[in-house]
Amino acid sequence: HFLLPYLLNQILFSIALPQFLQLSLIQTVTLIPGDGIGPEISTAVMKIFEAAEAPIQWEERNVTAIQGPGGKWMIPPDAKESMDRNKIGLKGPLKTPIAAGHPSMNLLLRKTFDLYANVRPCVSIEGYKTPYSDVNLVTIRENTEGEYSGIEHVIVDGVVQSIKLITEQASQRIADYAFEYARNNQRASVTAVHKANIMRMSDGLFLRKCREAAEKHKDVKFTEMYLDTVCLNMVQDPTQFDVLVMPNLYGDILSDLCAGLIGGLGVTPSGNIGANGVAIFESVHGTAPDIAGKDMANPTALLLSAVMMLRHMGLHGHAKKIEAACFDTIRDEKVRTKDLGGNSKCSEFTEAICQRV
Ligand code: NAD
Repeated sequence: HFLLPYLLNQILFSIALPQFLQLSLIQTVTLIPGDGIGPEISTAVMKIFEAAEAPIQWEERNVTAIQGPGGKWMIPPDAKESMDRNKIGLKGPLKTPIAAGHPSMNLLLRKTFDLYANVRPCVSIEGYKTPYSDVNLVTIRENTEGEYSGIEHVIVDGVVQSIKLITEQASQRIADYAFEYARNNQRASVTAVHKANIMRMSDGLFLRKCREAAEKHKDVKFTEMYLDTVCLNMVQDPTQFDVLVMPNLYGDILSDLCAGLIGGLGVTPSGNIGANGVAIFESVHGTAPDIAGKDMANPTALLLSAVMMLRHMGLHGHAKKIEAACFDTIRDEKVRTKDLGGNSKCSEFTEAICQRV
């Protein structure tokens, strides 16, 4: 009477419970493969994650803009539902439709999930020759307002007014995020990038909020610098910078400049941090229609974005392992994609990374 239940219990605890525990540790991520080379590089990331035994399961969702009630553009409800539930997404590039009135999908995602902080770490890849060998900085761009608020109108024929919108709430949110990012990622300093000498009220407000955030985070060094001075110093010696925080337009331009310092958009990852704990990680490059479907794409940018995602999720061990395998493969030079100066296929490069994790 007692032996059978006892044995069943033992079996359940020795087999079923650990399995249950294992399953509960696996986290689900919404995967938006995207267009053009998106599906190829997404497959590469999934293969490498599998080889590294990363505890992630993917929930694939296609994202094409649809028109909802009243003709309003929206992302498909199943993709929104998946992101709302999982909170974390990995996204390949999405083509911008040319049809008039059709919105940019990236903009729509940004608005839907209030992705207010665009984070781009620019770190030199050892062994990959670029003008500088020791860049290690992060740009944090306010992603929701500034000149990109879309408030433009014709005043009279031949005169257009475009409004730069800076709010206290958005400036404070991004300033606090920059300091928290610095603290959580063992970074020593934050530089506020601005033009408050000219844009006294708008950039002045942004800068004031950065100064207030600095007061709250005294463990992180704070400096402020004009955008033009940052550009000059950046090309002369990028090693002097650590975390840089700035309004939308400055961030759009400066983050591409920084990507150029480490080898371009093909190797630069990014993350978009939103309200309510949502975050979408994405490669910075586009859909590369010229090489789509030819097994020629470099999956590095999407892979490093996925590594950023793992760190955001606290999976530092897996992040380190995958990043090291990617950098080792590039350093080795034997297997590199064409854009990195080699002649290997995307699938061969992926396989070489899988062998190393
Ligand atoms: P692109 O980045 O797609 O391509 C520029 C050049 O870089 C091409 O020669 C391409 O072959 C190469 N390239 C880009 N990524 C590469 C990779 N991973 N491996 C190897 N080579 C790579 O820029 P584009 O041609 O101006 O844009 C194409 C489409 O992508 C447009 O519809 C654009 O709106 C869209 N786009 C989307 C995003 C995004 O979703 N985040 C970003 C930029 C552009």
